[in-house]
Amino acid sequence: MTQVERHAYDVVVVGAGGAGLRAAIEARERGMRTAVICKSLFGKAHTVMAEGGIAASMGNVNSHDNWQVHFRDTMRGGKFLNQWRMAELHAKEAPDRVWELETWGALFDRTADGRISQRNFGGHEYPRLAHVGDRTGLELIRTLQQKIVSLQQEDHAETGDYEARLKVFQECTVTRVLKDDERSEMGAPPDRRSGGKVAGVFGYVRESGRLFVIDAPAVVLATGGIGKSFKVTSNSWEYTGDGHALALLAGAPLINMEFIQFHPTGMVWPPSVKGILVTESVRGDGGVLRNSDGERFMFGYVPDVFKEKYAQSEEEADGWYTDPDNHRRPPELLPRDEVARAINSEVKAGRGTPHGGVYLDVSTRLPAEEIRRRLPSMHHQFKELADVDITAEAMEVGPTCHYMMGGVDVEPDTAAARGVPGLFAAGEVAGGMHGSNRLGGNSLSDLLVFGRRAGLFAAEYAAGLGEQRPAASEEQIDAAAAEALRPFGAEEPAESAESAQEGAAENPYTLHQELQQVMNDLVGIIRRGPEMEQALERLGVLRERSRRVAVEGHRQFNPGWHLAVDLRNMLLVSECVARAALERTESRGGHTRDDHPGMDRDWRKVNLVCELTDEAQGGGADGGKQALIGLRQRPMDPIRADLLALFEREELLKYLTDEELDR
Ligand code: FAD
Repeated sequence: MTQVERHAYDVVVVGAGGAGLRAAIEARERGMRTAVICKSLFGKAHTVMAEGGIAASMGNVNSHDNWQVHFRDTMRGGKFLNQWRMAELHAKEAPDRVWELETWGALFDRTADGRISQRNFGGHEYPRLAHVGDRTGLELIRTLQQKIVSLQQEDHAETGDYEARLKVFQECTVTRVLKDDERSEMGAPPDRRSGGKVAGVFGYVRESGRLFVIDAPAVVLATGGIGKSFKVTSNSWEYTGDGHALALLAGAPLINMEFIQFHPTGMVWPPSVKGILVTESVRGDGGVLRNSDGERFMFGYVPDVFKEKYAQSEEEADGWYTDPDNHRRPPELLPRDEVARAINSEVKAGRGTPHGGVYLDVSTRLPAEEIRRRLPSMHHQFKELADVDITAEAMEVGPTCHYMMGGVDVEPDTAAARGVPGLFAAGEVAGGMHGSNRLGGNSLSDLLVFGRRAGLFAAEYAAGLGEQRPAASEEQIDAAAAEALRPFGAEEPAESAESAQEGAAENPYTLHQELQQVMNDLVGIIRRGPEMEQALERLGVLRERSRRVAVEGHRQFNPGWHLAVDLRNMLLVSECVARAALERTESRGGHTRDDHPGMDRDWRKVNLVCELTDEAQGGGADGGKQALIGLRQRPMDPIRADLLALFEREELLKYLTDEELDR
């Protein structure tokens, strides 16, 4: 029996970004003893890095805005592949979540008449992003943390213990979701699995290497994205697709894994900072994109589906900033997938900058003082990292892997993961809400809307179980411990003569670099069938090699070990991305096929669902070249008629089949 620390809670939230904290607050307010676990220090999550703002149709800057317009924009941005009920809930509830933040102490920038200010962003018809300069995520997390502290103070006043009902376990990595009757499920085909109930989580403390189990009947996954599987990314070290993999391994399906958002503007120079985000607010506040010929090239890249909404000339585009009711939007504010592809094409055509990007210029558009006031972080970032003064010169920018649209297949209203009772997911780790492409600003609002819902329904679920709590077997905990500690142990026997020859211990950093290169080169922004087939083959080889990953030293703060553990997740998630991307023979949102360039209305009706294969689920997979991920097509739920009625039929014809329209 493995020695582990043991705790017991009603609800465990894995992740302390916006979604996790909002879920934890809700669960605690519903009277649940709640634990929050995060991989890094409390307060450091991607949410903190969010710059531009939080989208909510409060109508403070343009009174024409309302939830219906926000819903329409979100569906258009996602090319109608969004789980429409999530998009509806999100558009309706986002304003309440922003106002609620204000009552908890958030200090948003104001309009001249004292209301919460809202800024323009790509794909949003009206100024809609509530913001705090370009540091909105920091304020969001600060406010949620402050709320957590105030709840802990309430608990202290009542019980004498600050952590009586809400405790944060920081610098801890969860490696498995535990279930009650895991063994009875082994070998059962995916559609006939009994779906054993969640019993808690297993993980390790990063600093000490100690192993722990938290027994809990409800687990909320709020672990964010997967960006570290790609070489050029805006994501930081902890985004290794852990929640996606934890869900898969627990038997929950993932959807939309082929859709990855490459943000059009990441830094391209110097190499050490390549991929770091340049916020879309630069374009929202007037910044324009030019190629090396000085041409404002985006006018040549407005796709037919957006032609009526975007300006055709510089004059018209510039007029929009001061008179939006009588001008169409500048094409720099097209949804991100369109802008990223356009930049990619310009660079490929030889019209890029010396470092392989394009120019983004705000210096000729706004006075220096205004740039420093509106974009303080960008000003600081370029000065410190690239020695570029953005008030006087253009930035060099190019696409960077930024956001994962795909994720855990959840019930829209409750955030419950399908097929695994007691498992919930919210935020970037959940799939569906954003369809094939997320609009900027819609993530922060998503975190709050669905974070709250996940906390609420996890609490209801846990309360509903009464004293009948599921329990994980000791064998399951032993297996989780053996898996986590495997990189310290003996090598696995090689599967074949070929691999025996190459059977030396593997270095986790080398494997990670190779994985990032494969995903970048073969499953990146522009995809081709044969390249993705090659990617799957190479991922299989990497997976086989990963079984021989070995690390030196001991368990106290050992980053090599941590990466070795994370590799399992990155490999699983990368296989999902490559398999789904190969299967979807069309281009839509964050999935662009060179060999299938058009959007196909028949594919709009389909979600690709990734599940662990029987062998992998039952523990029998060889871990080698054989597929671990099975893929199936599932029809999308038909969009409710009153929501369809919000669009002109002519527009719907671009996305929906005649059959769907004539229902
Ligand atoms: P995160 O905030 O990513 O938090 C994930 C949490 O999970 C972390 O606490 C992490 O430690 C923890 N975790 C992960 N794995 C484990 C594990 N195995 N065990 C324990 N804990 C784990 N969106 C907008 O709407 N507006 C913006 O302006 C905007 N700007 C952005 C700028 C940047 C640079 C980036 C990178 C993203 C931006 N986004 C923006 C996107 C948005 O910030 C993220 O999608 C969002 O913050 C994700 O929130 P989350 O709560 O889902 O997860």
